[in-house]
Amino acid sequence: MITRRKLLKSLSSLPVLGGLVGTGLLTPQLVNASVTKPAARNFFKELGLRTFINAAGTYTSMTGSLMSEEVTSAITYGATEYVDLDQLQDKVGERIAELLNCEYATVSSGAFGAMTIGLAGVMCGMDNEKVSQLPDTTGLKNEVIVQEAHNIGYTHALTNTGAKLVKVKTARELEKAINKNTAMLWFLNANTEEGEIKWEEFVALGKKHNIATFIDCAADVPPVDNLFKFTKMGFDLVAFSGGKGIRGPQSAGLLLGKRAYIEAARMHTPPRGTTIARGMKVNKEEVLGMMVALEMYLQKDHEKEWELWERQIKLISDSALAVEGVETEIHVPPHANHVPSLRIKWDQKLVGISPEDARKKLMDGHPAISTVGNKEMIGITTWMMDPGQERIVAKRVREVLENS
Ligand SMILES: *Cc1c(COP(=O)(O)O)cnc(C)c1O
Repeated sequence: MITRRKLLKSLSSLPVLGGLVGTGLLTPQLVNASVTKPAARNFFKELGLRTFINAAGTYTSMTGSLMSEEVTSAITYGATEYVDLDQLQDKVGERIAELLNCEYATVSSGAFGAMTIGLAGVMCGMDNEKVSQLPDTTGLKNEVIVQEAHNIGYTHALTNTGAKLVKVKTARELEKAINKNTAMLWFLNANTEEGEIKWEEFVALGKKHNIATFIDCAADVPPVDNLFKFTKMGFDLVAFSGGKGIRGPQSAGLLLGKRAYIEAARMHTPPRGTTIARGMKVNKEEVLGMMVALEMYLQKDHEKEWELWERQIKLISDSALAVEGVETEIHVPPHANHVPSLRIKWDQKLVGISPEDARKKLMDGHPAISTVGNKEMIGITTWMMDPGQERIVAKRVREVLENS
């Protein structure tokens, strides 16, 4: 049995007492005297974790993006009431489709989850038996054609359904690969330049053979137009990450496109349980957060934001260039992570530190700064920073390079 003395002793090592309110273990006086407001807690510090300035980008390992107060308010609001999950998804799907001028939409568990449920929807339609049969694809169309250059790790979201990938290089090969088992054609927007078949031709091939087309646009806002462009172009399904450029919940995403396919995709999601996507749950808080993040994103002054990023990148570049032997390159990736980006390189005879060690120094310093890079360079973007942090990054980059 827990004695009062033992209890008080163990409580003193806890940051708050709030968790015991209502358990009968605490007297009100004790609680009132000791409760800390949850918002005042520094959870990461409490857990012994260092936070950092994100000069890298929207990386899952770095927890993606930060949400605005409007988004976190929606999430907090969502946590206060019960609502029917399917009805919520129905209404939010309609709202998002209206905002993005497409036939239908749903909030998925990330772009990855959107791919799995999107393909599962195409494979099974509204047939409950088929839905519960996956990942066994016996008797179902189970081949997805992808361009070899598009076949990066994320295609695992497709094979999660039980489907197989068929890899092709050219339009000719693609047409030859089509057979009675072909379920879908999948396109990775990030690798548009690397693949031989481009958007319009890909969509046309799908239409010609009456096969659904899907485009993965996970990291492809900005530009904001991409939210409209690919459904309009004729892709049947389009996926975006919620927690990258849109700055919604990291575990949410958007599946946009044809109503029939999206309704079929929903057959695999909770509350339904005997499905492959039961574990890809998106609860009401995230659904609301995603909706509001999208609303906020659409309202933004995108040009102004772009100019800010350009100024920030230039500031950091100029600061690095003040060190002898340093060279910088400002570039914008054509698709995916399409934002002003900086590469910093140097002559290691003049600056005596390797890029890897310099990145480690930035991360170990105060404040910690995360970057990307390799043996040759440090890579920096500013779109995931709070405005003002670019000055700290500029100063620290120069310090690390100067003092090596
Ligand atoms: C990030 C990413 C994904 C995964 O998206 P989540 O929203 O994290 O599920 C899929 N495809 C590409 C190309 C990505 O960049």
